[in-house]
This record gives sequence, C-alpha cells and structure tokens, in this order.
Amino acid sequence: MPTADPPVARIPLIRRRGLLIVLSSPSGAGKTTISKKFLEAESPTVQMSVSVTTRRQRPGEVDGADYRFIDRAAFERLRDEGALLEHAEVFGHAYGTPSAPIAAALEQGRDVLLDIDWQGAQALAAGPFKNDLVRIFILPPSLDELHRRLERRNQDSADVVEERMQGARQEISHWRDYDYVLVNAEVEACLAEVQTIVRAERLRRERRSGIKGGLDEFVATLD
Ligand code: 5GP
Repeated sequence: MPTADPPVARIPLIRRRGLLIVLSSPSGAGKTTISKKFLEAESPTVQMSVSVTTRRQRPGEVDGADYRFIDRAAFERLRDEGALLEHAEVFGHAYGTPSAPIAAALEQGRDVLLDIDWQGAQALAAGPFKNDLVRIFILPPSLDELHRRLERRNQDSADVVEERMQGARQEISHWRDYDYVLVNAEVEACLAEVQTIVRAERLRRERRSGIKGGLDEFVATLD
C-alpha cells in the first residue's frame, strides 16, 4: 500500500520592515562591484539609493543610475529644503542621500542599499531610520592591493590616486563605527558574507513585529 505523503506545512507570510544597508569602504576596496552583484542577486527586494553629487561624471557612469550629477546651487537647494537624509563633503565634492525614496521602501519591506562614507553612516545612526540601519564596512586585504586596484581602475590621475590613498587611511580609521567589518580578498566570498548578514538581519524580531501583517498577528493565530 503506498503511504500518503505527509501534509506540507504552509509557510506563513510574515511582513517586515525594510533594511537600510550601508556599505562603506575606501575607494578601490571593491564596494561598487559587491553592491552591483548584491543588487543583481537580491532584486527586486533590494533597491539602490542613488545619491546626488557635485563631482564630475566619470566615463561609464550613468546619470540617474550611479549618481544624480548636479551643480552646487542645486545641491544647496536640496539640502536647504531638507530633501537629503544625510550629506557630506568627500574629496572636495558634496554628496547627499535623497530622503524621499527611503521611507516608502522601508515601510513596504523593501531594503535600500547605500554606498556612502563613514560620515553618512554616522549621520544615519542619529537619524529617523536608525533602527533600520545595518552598517557594513569593507576592508581591502592590504593597502598595497588597494593602491594596485586604484591604479588599475585607471580613471583617475596619479594625484587623484594619492589623494584616494590618503582618504582610504582616513576612512579605515572609522571601522569601529560599523556593525560588521569584512575583508574583501575575494569578491564572491565577500558577497556571500554580505548576503549572510542581510538574511539574518531581515529575520530580527524587531523588524517583524509592531507592524501590520507582522509577527504579532501571526503569533495570535497560534493561540
Ligand atoms: P566616488 O566619488 O568615488 O563615487 O565616492 C567617493 C565617496 O563618497 C565614497 O566613499 C562614497 O561611498 C561616498 N558617497 C557617495 N555618495 C554619498 C552620499 O550620498 N553620502 C555620503 N556621506 N557619502 C557618499
């Protein structure tokens, strides 16, 4: 007699708030590659925050996708209107995170990935979404390797490479301000670590309770 398959338990849908995932690292530590791969793997659950900046567009960069390239006057207008969740000067240029897309995404349970520096991470930790924040810092395996990667990128002059190396030391000095600190010796391994962090963070109780369709309602059905 064939035995009947045991009934398959239905996986309950439990809603959660989205995560504000900050990925910081010195330029050249591989953060951009990891962000892109992470977004591809996690789309459409994760969306990228597109910053505004006054720096010049580099070859290959797409306005509106990599950054929104604007002039100082436009930047100052956005800042003064309160349209930026955080903003900072980096290498003599202004950068800022537009607020509007973030609140809606987090409410709807979508995660937002931000490629911003330590000043931005610090500002967000004091801001309205501090409870949604997951801060990840990516270190290069060595400063020599970082130098090689910056040269290989070959988009910046030797002076700019030196300036970026100075900036790297400065950025690295803030590693303790982050929740997770990874070493990017190998992109796929580092990406897997980022995914592990994000998967666990999504399951934290506080992200899944106190909201409509969250844990409170599910647990009530168990009574
Ligand atoms: P890059 O000019 O190489 O694209 O970026 C320079 C630095 O500025 C990077 O460390 C990057 O993470 C940071 N950055 C980019 N956008 C923002 C932003 O909106 N806010 C802050 N605080 N930093 C940003």
